[in-house]
Amino acid sequence: MKPLPSFRKAVWLNEPRLQQVMAVITRGGGEVRVAGGAVRNALLGVPIADVDLATTMLPTDVMRVCKAAGFGVHPTGFDHGTVTVVNGGIPFEVTTLRRDVETDGRRAMVAYTSEWAEDAMRRDFTMNAMYCDAAGKIYDFTNGYGDLLRNRVRFVGDAKMRIKEDYLRILRFFRFHARFGKGGPDKIGLAACAKLKSGLKKISAERIRQEMFKIVVAPRAVPTLKIMAASGVLRKIIPYTDDWRLIGRLPDDAVLRLYCLAKKPDDLKQDLRLSNAEAQRIDDLGTGPDLSPKLKMSEQRTMLYHLGGQAWTDSVELGWASGRASKRDKKWRALLDLPKHWPIPKLPINGQDLLEAGIASGPYMGEVLRSLEDWWVASDFVPTREELLERLKHDA
Ligand code: ATP
Ligand code: MG
Repeated sequence: MKPLPSFRKAVWLNEPRLQQVMAVITRGGGEVRVAGGAVRNALLGVPIADVDLATTMLPTDVMRVCKAAGFGVHPTGFDHGTVTVVNGGIPFEVTTLRRDVETDGRRAMVAYTSEWAEDAMRRDFTMNAMYCDAAGKIYDFTNGYGDLLRNRVRFVGDAKMRIKEDYLRILRFFRFHARFGKGGPDKIGLAACAKLKSGLKKISAERIRQEMFKIVVAPRAVPTLKIMAASGVLRKIIPYTDDWRLIGRLPDDAVLRLYCLAKKPDDLKQDLRLSNAEAQRIDDLGTGPDLSPKLKMSEQRTMLYHLGGQAWTDSVELGWASGRASKRDKKWRALLDLPKHWPIPKLPINGQDLLEAGIASGPYMGEVLRSLEDWWVASDFVPTREELLERLKHDA
């Protein structure tokens, strides 16, 4: 087995604000270590999103000593032992070591412990169950490092039991496989996910959304989605198309990819609790025109003007991915980049101008304004405000 490296000299670990928080907890009598994702990513040499800390100190004490040290302190997940400590603008989630005593497949009742190994046992995958102390020493109770080196997402303990404690772990299994896995997923884990997939119905749409948004943009999204489909897991989430080629050709944008994955994109709004802006993108994708580099420049501008930047970008990406053109195709690239070179102009007159020209507000005013806009657009956005006002006088 490869010996565990040390992070004694690692830049991320020696970040002063992190070291300060760890020092304050240590001085207060707690043991504290970096836990989970940060250790995993550091071992892989990939960027670290946020640094989570685990400690033997109880949450109330974490709050007390950190407040006294002048850090910002927020009881963000106090019931399960998490306090967010902010030092110099960086938030650290500090969670007291715990073991899960009772679970209902969604939430766990927790009991605090001072045993690191116990805390490791309640974590989902071996690669997520490692710790690193302030001096850079790594603690690995579950052979997470070995699994990480083999790109293997493996449940801590008995896969079926762990899934029954929290069915979301089914999706987390695929999410981490899509991000860190190579080759096929762990057979035991996969079989357990397939067998227990019905339990996903217990999981809230918000939590499912979080995982799905990450799965579809992970580096190995398509092969992983195929495995999710073959194992019957995916159909527990959404009815899906199997247009894998198209999905694989899309940029790594979750809304675009989900739109193409879903058999009924409209249902995504409810099923994955899309925001209003995301729902709007789904609508626009459904009604958008077919865009292609064959369009004349004036047609392109007109369409961009009417669609707006986001819907334009989405429609171009969809059109590009649907066809055969390479990802390096210069004409498609130029089409996609049009909003960068041609900022959408604003009609240089408005209702106020019409009022001043003696047109009463109401439906008629709307009509006049629209016909001026049509003329302006059809004239390739060239007419100036003066020319529009002139035309208005003429027509009114
Ligand atoms: P990311 O970089 O995607 O945030 P992460 O490993 O930090 O990856 P999180 O979802 O932020 O993932 O969770 C932080 C840690 O908490 C995990 O590494 C894991 O140890 C533990 N964890 C999170 N969710 C669960 C869960 N549902 N069951 C068991 N352990 C979990
Ligand atoms: Mg995280």
